[in-house]
Amino acid sequence: MKDFEQETAKFFEGCLPIEELARRGEDTMRYGPLKPVGLFDARLGDFRDPDNKDKRPYAVVQLRQEDKAGQLWNLVGFQTNLRWGEQKRVFRLIPGLEAAEFIRLGVMHRNTFLNSPQLLAPTLQFKTRSTLLAAGQLTGTEGYGAAVAGGWLAGTNAACLVRGLAPLVLPPTTLMGALFDFITSASPQHFQPMPPNFGILPAFPSRIRNKQVRYQAYRDRALADLNHWQQQSQFVCWPAAI
Ligand SMILES: Cc1cc2nc3c(=O)[nH]c(=O)nc-3n(C[C@H](O)[C@H](O)[C@H](O)COP(=O)(O)OP(=O)(O)OC[C@H]3O[C@@H](n4cnc5c(N)ncnc54)[C@H](O)[C@@H]3O)c2cc1C
Repeated sequence: MKDFEQETAKFFEGCLPIEELARRGEDTMRYGPLKPVGLFDARLGDFRDPDNKDKRPYAVVQLRQEDKAGQLWNLVGFQTNLRWGEQKRVFRLIPGLEAAEFIRLGVMHRNTFLNSPQLLAPTLQFKTRSTLLAAGQLTGTEGYGAAVAGGWLAGTNAACLVRGLAPLVLPPTTLMGALFDFITSASPQHFQPMPPNFGILPAFPSRIRNKQVRYQAYRDRALADLNHWQQQSQFVCWPAAI
């Protein structure tokens, strides 16, 4: 990277460049984008079967088909800052890709985001200008689902304001409610984008050790609270689908 890029480069831990993963340790990539789990290979059997674990590959590279003819394949998880010549040289070292032709090379993307804890309320309104609302990754959420939910909430709240109704705040026990609560209440000094995840949900009074049971309990609590919330909200143009 150029000096000026290095000064500002702060990577999102959930989407690191491949060379940064490689730099962190020999095994880091195969516990990240090259993780060989959850796969089935007709030649070798089902690696998900514990008795078949020894056949599990050391690491895998996922190729996602991009065109109908099956000539273009996207190398999944290879976000990179490497120069184009280096990308071709290094990626051709992967067994099977020795003769690969590269049509589109990897580039890093930059996420610009608001300091939402400082600027926004959980209704996604600006604190100092309540008729201005924000949504999507610009607010420091990550991912498709969060962008859709944020767009829905901001749009719905804009409609509420026009109709003279109180804007909505999603229950914090739902994943999206917890996310909007997080982005508007985290520390403004250290704020970084966040995807929806179980770690931001309010804990239960006593810890449920079994992960599957805990996640089911999160789901049941969220659905019950959402149902209750929906009945409480006096929202006149409630979408029929919900
Ligand atoms: C390579 C990559 C892979 C990803 N993979 C996944 C994944 O597998 N799963 C997942 O959940 N998420 C994934 N994400 C994240 C996900 O794409 C984003 O979180 C989500 O698309 C954000 O949606 P958005 O509508 O907030 O923003 P965007 O989709 O970025 O939309 C913003 C739009 O605003 C437009 N715009 C910007 N400035 C202006 C302006 N001044 N005037 C007018 N228009 C403007 C832009 O052109 C763009 O169309 C990935 C992101 C990247 C980059």
